[in-house]
Amino acid sequence: MKLNNRVALVTGAGSGIGRAIAVELAQEGAKIGVNDINEKAIDETLRILQDLGASGIALKADIGNVSEVKGMFKKLKETYGTIDILVNNAGIAMPPSWVVYKERSNNAALKAMGEVMETGKMQESMKITSSFEDEWWLITLNVHLNGTFYCTREALKIMEEKRKGKIINLSSVTALHGEPIVPAYSAAKAGIIGFTKAVAQEVIGSGIIVNALAPGYIDTPLLDGMDDRVKQMIIARTPAGRLGNAKEIASLVAYLATDDANYIVGQVISPNGGMVI
Ligand code: NAD
Repeated sequence: MKLNNRVALVTGAGSGIGRAIAVELAQEGAKIGVNDINEKAIDETLRILQDLGASGIALKADIGNVSEVKGMFKKLKETYGTIDILVNNAGIAMPPSWVVYKERSNNAALKAMGEVMETGKMQESMKITSSFEDEWWLITLNVHLNGTFYCTREALKIMEEKRKGKIINLSSVTALHGEPIVPAYSAAKAGIIGFTKAVAQEVIGSGIIVNALAPGYIDTPLLDGMDDRVKQMIIARTPAGRLGNAKEIASLVAYLATDDANYIVGQVISPNGGMVI
């Protein structure tokens, strides 16, 4: 096992990619701080870790809230004494509870698709950004970009002292090509890439290694807000002809967390089924 006795914190580990990452890291011997905003989801991940005979603790916190993030790191340090691996994974895209956003985005995508099929090109703006609400913009940037910063800041305080650590940030293929129905999400994920590259150079002198993943479309509850026809359109744009699965991302995170990957610094690796090459 390549991560024996290392302590990992995985944010958003109550679902999808985060849960799969927690499992992969645990299978390599790491002890896992299981963060999520959803307590029930944390419990389910902890149950899975327990079945594997792995060690994990519940760290319920909103990563977009500075004091909750500080409290989460305090509890992690009290329990396991340190942090070796931080995976900034928690995120939101088009939560089903954002009914208006979900409808507007799906309708715009379907209308554009119809126009392209009928006339060969889009006939007008998709009008997402011009009617985008402040709340959607601010919450999206807060969870992804501020959350990544808040957690990274706390982790570095410990990692800089011990002169060792790994930080892996979840960006997205939307940061590479821009996804018109999710402008705030695309912007936040692009911000994470800039942050990754800057911090990677800043902290390598202390033996801390920072990288990002920019996955394509992965079959998790994050895509629940998306109309099935829009999903089919995305699959049609993916040379592999399918969505990815969470394990395909998690195994790459686990590799980046090991010493085998120590020469990979400040990179953006995009497992995306060939969608962006
Ligand atoms: P998911 O919805 O299955 O899981 C996300 C988890 O994050 C949920 O358990 C949720 O409760 C938690 N979360 C949300 N806001 C939080 C907050 N403020 N504090 C703490 N936890 C919070 O989504 P997923 O597909 O597993 O996505 C994981 C990461 O991968 C996200 O950053 C996402 O943007 C990114 N990503 C996903 C895809 C995809 O297609 N699924 C593609 C590229 C990147």
